[in-house]
Amino acid sequence: MSWSIESKEVNHNDFLTEESLFFLGNGYLGVRGNFEEGYQENDKTIRGTYINAFYDEVEIKYGEKLYGFPNTQQKMLNIIDSQSVQIWLDGEKFSLFQGEVLDYQRMLRMDKGYSERMVHWKSPKGREIKIWFKRLVSFVRKEVFVQEVKVEPLTEIKEISINSVLDSDVANFSDPDDPRLASAHEKLLSVKDVYEKSGCQIAIAETLETKLSVCCASRTFLDREDYEYSHKIKDKKIEESYSLSGNKNVTFTKHNIYMDSLRYNENLGDQAFNLHQGIADDRFEDFLKEQIQYLDDFWKTSDIRIEGDTKLQQGIRFNMFHLLQSVGKDSMSNISAKGLSGEGYEGHYFWDTEIYMFPVFLMTNPQIAKNLLLHRYSILDKARQRAKEMGHQKGALFPWRTITGGESSAFFPAGTAQYHINADIAYSYVQYYLVSKDEEFMKKEMAEVMFETARLWLDAGHFYKEQFRINSVTGPDEYTCIVNNNYYTNVMAKYNLLWAVKVYNRLNSDDPESLSSLMKELNLKEQEVCEWEKAAETMFLPHNEELKIDEQDDTFLTKELWDLSSTPKEKFPLLLNYHPLVLYRHQVCKQADTVLAHFLLEDFTDRETIENSYNYYEKITTHDSSLSYCVFSIMASKLGYRDKAYNYFSKTSRLDLENIHGNTKDGLHMANMGGTWMGIVYGFAGLRIKEAGIHFSPILPEEWDALEFNITYDKRLINVYLTKGKVTYTLKAGQGVNIFHQGIETSLELGIPKEKETESPIYTSY
Ligand code: BGC
Repeated sequence: MSWSIESKEVNHNDFLTEESLFFLGNGYLGVRGNFEEGYQENDKTIRGTYINAFYDEVEIKYGEKLYGFPNTQQKMLNIIDSQSVQIWLDGEKFSLFQGEVLDYQRMLRMDKGYSERMVHWKSPKGREIKIWFKRLVSFVRKEVFVQEVKVEPLTEIKEISINSVLDSDVANFSDPDDPRLASAHEKLLSVKDVYEKSGCQIAIAETLETKLSVCCASRTFLDREDYEYSHKIKDKKIEESYSLSGNKNVTFTKHNIYMDSLRYNENLGDQAFNLHQGIADDRFEDFLKEQIQYLDDFWKTSDIRIEGDTKLQQGIRFNMFHLLQSVGKDSMSNISAKGLSGEGYEGHYFWDTEIYMFPVFLMTNPQIAKNLLLHRYSILDKARQRAKEMGHQKGALFPWRTITGGESSAFFPAGTAQYHINADIAYSYVQYYLVSKDEEFMKKEMAEVMFETARLWLDAGHFYKEQFRINSVTGPDEYTCIVNNNYYTNVMAKYNLLWAVKVYNRLNSDDPESLSSLMKELNLKEQEVCEWEKAAETMFLPHNEELKIDEQDDTFLTKELWDLSSTPKEKFPLLLNYHPLVLYRHQVCKQADTVLAHFLLEDFTDRETIENSYNYYEKITTHDSSLSYCVFSIMASKLGYRDKAYNYFSKTSRLDLENIHGNTKDGLHMANMGGTWMGIVYGFAGLRIKEAGIHFSPILPEEWDALEFNITYDKRLINVYLTKGKVTYTLKAGQGVNIFHQGIETSLELGIPKEKETESPIYTSY
């Protein structure tokens, strides 16, 4: 069970959630888990296929538009639909809404990378069949989505017809009542060409504004030869029909190839057609074989094993699998807040990537992590441009939400004002450097990003009474907007500045030539670097002596406390029930803010402050954002609050599987999925990445018998096996290395397990 998710009956009240849960993708292409045969007219369903970073640009309509507001917004598009396959038995159409469903089972296999739906069905007139629908989006050939439909007649049926459709007349989903969804611009693809070429059905469409093209070419096969075939093109749809005698089983296969003009040059139709030639002889099992091989390799390093808890085991595997399915693996794309599973947040990339998902790839698949950094690097010029629009003389300001670099946030208090995204990106560059020791990358891409982000802080903040202060920004907590000196922002900016100086010094001593050419290119003066250092050293970090906590911002503690315990359940999430100003006037948090800063940068504060702050902010945090539970779990682990660590972890682990936030229908919560992995590796195992090396401080939750995972670190693979009171570290590949266990350095040699006790101390400062 822990390698699959299953559904044993058709949930007529909610198709949408399963469409997200059963989505299949490979980082390039994503297909929601829609029923091939379709639905009833008024059923709520979002039929969706997406390509990562394939987008259009739409106008943002403001009631009052002020200077610097973005004019347009990018939007990931729903593209040509190839999912539809309908089955007819002597003129009766197979449908889950008529006749009788005698048996039903749907399964998503995380170990093998495909999904399957089995239906045993009796038609209204008594014809009986079993149908198996299988589908797979290939990790190995990223353009390929394959479907297989096997029909087994169980009673006498004269004729079976199979209709396969390629539909380019598609639109995006909209819901004007939910700010997390788009409310207009549904139809943004215009169909350019729909044709047939030597058995290949080809549709090409173009976006209205960005003029990007997408092509889907489908080819279908039967495993029998005694059929009649017809094909028609009508209303931007291509329909193929096979009819054959119902005296025996038949297996139908459909190869769909997707290509877009961002990655492929002209003549998409011809290129897709040529690709088809190469896979014409392959059937579902052939694609499956290479899919399994790919996933075997993935799980070998990335699996987390929990002994003694099948439900949470299933949760973590489910989350890891979907992260892999959604993360862009070329530097043209990133990973959006909902991955490729749905249209929520319009396919935008947020800080979610750097703080919640990047760490997973960094420690399991460093090449994917590097691509994510390269994607940010590829939009650095746009970030420079945005900084100018925002009135900054120098530096780069990364957009709060975007696809190709343009700021797409229409609500600036909880959008553009979140300048911390700059420091979040810089933080991920530093983490990558500490783990990969990639000096070449540090000298070029990293140096440029560190310098340009550091410059921005100097321009956005100012020195006041010997302290560096940053005013009018929003921290991670979106229920507290436009504040002065948000602790999270300031401490992350401090780290950003410190590291810009460090990179500068390293380059200065190791490779002065490349430093001077970069400085020339950026017109960077030494004096600026001195100022970065001064700003970092004098950065104001708000702290309250009386409560002994770090203050979320300058005025947070002066606001009225929100009483969460007497807020009716139906008023959550608060953002859908209160005007933002009501929230801003109170001490109430949507998500971890100062507590998150204490996780990421624990060395800038002390244990007592961390503990007091946790206790203080926990009482006023709603966790209305799914980015919150995992941070509270990680920090509870650190503080030795074992029950809390476990309870918060359980919620992250099964947040989508149990639809805890009630909006899984719009897509899966990718940041939270990364948070599950972090809850284990950074939480229970206490991993921290520091300049001196990697640190562990592990404690196994009481509820479990054992926990096991691997991490990659500086070209090594380290296995961590945690049981009650004991941890074993084993270097499985690479040269001997030192790690820290509860603050004490210890060496690992290849293949020699090292055992350590884990009981105390719970907290270690290193
Ligand atoms: C959260 C943000 C997050 C965004 C996308 C919002 O609800 O408050 O922190 O970046 O969702 O996941």
